[in-house]
Amino acid sequence: MQLHQLTAHEMHDLLINKELSSEELNNHIFDRIEAVEDKIKAYLTLTKEGALERARSVDGQIQSGERIGPLAGIPVAVKDNICTKGIRTTAGSKILSNFIPPYNATVVEKLAAAGATIVGKTNLDEFAMGSSTENSAFIATKNPWDTGCVPGGSSGGSAAAVCAGEAALALGSDTGGSIRQPASFCGVVGMKPTYGAVSRYGLIAFASSLDQIGPFARDVTDCALLLGVISGHDPRDSTSAGYKVPDYTTFLNNNVRGLKIGVPEEFMAQGISPEVRAAVERAMSLYESLGAAVEYTTLPHTEYALPTYYIIAPAEASSNLARYDGVRYGFRAAEVADVVDMFMKSRSQGFGPEVKRRIMLGTYALSAGYYDAYYLKALKVRTLIKQDFDRAFEKYDLLLSPTSPTPAFRFGDKVDDPFQMYLSDICTISVNLAGIPGISLPCGFVGQMPVGLQLMGKYFDEGTLLRAAYTFEQNTDYHKEFPKI
Ligand code: GLN
Repeated sequence: MQLHQLTAHEMHDLLINKELSSEELNNHIFDRIEAVEDKIKAYLTLTKEGALERARSVDGQIQSGERIGPLAGIPVAVKDNICTKGIRTTAGSKILSNFIPPYNATVVEKLAAAGATIVGKTNLDEFAMGSSTENSAFIATKNPWDTGCVPGGSSGGSAAAVCAGEAALALGSDTGGSIRQPASFCGVVGMKPTYGAVSRYGLIAFASSLDQIGPFARDVTDCALLLGVISGHDPRDSTSAGYKVPDYTTFLNNNVRGLKIGVPEEFMAQGISPEVRAAVERAMSLYESLGAAVEYTTLPHTEYALPTYYIIAPAEASSNLARYDGVRYGFRAAEVADVVDMFMKSRSQGFGPEVKRRIMLGTYALSAGYYDAYYLKALKVRTLIKQDFDRAFEKYDLLLSPTSPTPAFRFGDKVDDPFQMYLSDICTISVNLAGIPGISLPCGFVGQMPVGLQLMGKYFDEGTLLRAAYTFEQNTDYHKEFPKI
């Protein structure tokens, strides 16, 4: 086993036993990046100097006998829609290609306080709109299991970086599945926390009522550790919740006895590939054999989730993206006649086609005369979707489904057909609409491509998700596979 294949908690053990310094570890990761990045293209920006500087400071702490936290000196990648002070943050868009934030996102401050080293900023679909990274204005990230396949999106760079050993951990953002779907495509663990569990301060907004930042990791233990570091109330995000962050590692018990698990039949229905369904059914049997009660249930409004999301998310996006006008920051078109021409040209040259499509959809849904028919209606349906979950959680401790209807698809397969691309989020979107937490973990392979299992939990019950995911992992070997690049 090579160093870059270790989990963060294994790396931590080497650091505190002084078998390895953080500087050596980080140098190894940058060597690994040099070796594979040409093929994978996970990163938009690398921050080697800053990473090594922090690594040396952690090494100093270890040498002087200080106790260090679990992420100290551990290489972490950050999605490029999360602001990093003094480090270019593009959101995958030409309109922000030269944007250097004057401040850090709260999660970045928390990583710094935990002593984590930041390896770089990872590629994403422009403004996190997409499911493959093909909408990035800069590069398409490749799936490390088969570079002809997409890594998923929008946090494809973060998923691929963790999968390929180009970082031990990563942060992503999830508005409709952008952490869980790429985690599933790349065979790593990815979690969308409860809405409000992690501060969105410094996350470049896509759809503010749906966006959440969350962890990518090579196993569930690492996921719990990173979640613990980034969670908690933040006065700078008015939607962040006041709650006491538990020690998530206390939930890492290999025990699901007595747990009630519901499987929404709508999530196993049309469009789910037979191999994915088979892998999920094997997971259901495993949970049963370990003492959980597993049965089919129903979330009757599921068929409305996609249309509801594709009104609400674009509506919020059209409003959030109004700020990119070429005046205060970001790209400004060169040759313009007057100020209106400057707005128009800056926006039409700065945004890519998918972002424009969303702005138009959203503006339409919010416009006078259509607002009630589309936006208001979507909000009402959102409540029905949320109530489906409320009812299900009266009966079940958690819900289980595939993360994505298929394994990773090939480049070019869906990029010309937005509707097909949107369908790949069919299993993840409801979770954002309801605001509950969801996790994806590896549960099998179709050929060489990983399949993801999604577990969905009650509000702020990340602990039960972690416990069930950990149990699954302890009783399977899928997470131990590593791609040959
Ligand atoms: N793929 C979905 C979209 O394009 C979800 C993206 C996300 O979660 N950021 O909107």
